Amino acid sequence: MKVHNFSAGPSILPNSVIKEASNGILNINNSGLSLLEISHRSKDFMDIMDKATCLALKLLDLENKGYKALFLQGGASNQFLMTAYNLLENKAGYLNTGVWSTKALKEAKLFGEAVEIASSKDKNFNYIPKGYSIDSDLDYFHITTNNTIFGTQIKEIPNTSVNLVCDMSSDIFSRKIDFSKFGLIYAGAQKNMGPAGTTLVVIKEDVLGKVSRKIPSMLDYQMHIDKESMFNTPPVFAVYTSMLTLEWLDKNGGIKSIESKNNEKAELLYNAIDNNELFKGFAAKEDRSSMNATFNLVNQDHKEVFDKLSKEANINGINGHRSVGGYRASIYNALEIESVKVLVEVMNELKRKV
Ligand SMILES: *Cc1c(COP(=O)(O)O)cnc(C)c1O
Repeated sequence: MKVHNFSAGPSILPNSVIKEASNGILNINNSGLSLLEISHRSKDFMDIMDKATCLALKLLDLENKGYKALFLQGGASNQFLMTAYNLLENKAGYLNTGVWSTKALKEAKLFGEAVEIASSKDKNFNYIPKGYSIDSDLDYFHITTNNTIFGTQIKEIPNTSVNLVCDMSSDIFSRKIDFSKFGLIYAGAQKNMGPAGTTLVVIKEDVLGKVSRKIPSMLDYQMHIDKESMFNTPPVFAVYTSMLTLEWLDKNGGIKSIESKNNEKAELLYNAIDNNELFKGFAAKEDRSSMNATFNLVNQDHKEVFDKLSKEANINGINGHRSVGGYRASIYNALEIESVKVLVEVMNELKRKV
């Protein structure tokens, strides 16, 4: 039975990756041992970590440009504080586009002056603020490229001389952007890269070493760079599975090729939302996310029938986040267009039925 998995996170991974990860649990590299029971300092695992970091930089086109890739723990949520701990000396600016950026800003305030440069809270974060100015005296400017809960996405990365720091948890590796615009990018693995348990951090090394406070080792990017993500025991399974997903992406043409597939899926779904009078989209059209589509029924009386039809079609994980309501279909890299077609067909069927 094929289930169409639109879950927002943890979320769909390529089937081949799930299978290979399962094999690794049983017997890694024909060693007769499980990935879960070998030393993280063994050659088998060191090669995995090395491959994962190299592939991350390769796919982002950041090789030989002064960047380091790290696989850390604590989720994107831990990066909310680590970024400020390591980078905030005088003042930082935040673009507030949703729940996650609000949390990032809150954590940063514990370390110094952190200001909201612009916000879309006035309309329950259904759009991306534009036309704001970024003071050149900021230590960094923090943005969230894709707002997983509200279904908005920054289409144009701001141009600024200020160090750009980005939470890219839910759209990393999904579209081609100039990643060298960023001083630091972080992303929890469980949206578009792997299982929960590790967070990819990509840092331009020269943004570090500029704050006067002392930083505990576990929260110090420089320490993790020096120890190549092995300061302490890394989350071996999450790193391994992330590596497999990055390998899958690389073999399938990298970001450029997945981006055109993602655009095709998004277009199909948004057309269905726009052309079916029973539904309305949540996010402003020009800011719509190509990863998370948020929409609702115009008439809630149709909910029961729509939910039943969805269930019969094996559609999983489309309930919206409680702060938006309605529906959210997450259409990450690994989701095949066939699944979107099934959802669209269910939306059309509802129209025929009511
Ligand atoms: C899911 C998500 C987070 C939270 O990630 P955790 O790994 O659970 O801490 C942060 N930011 C964005 C954009 C997300 O989608």
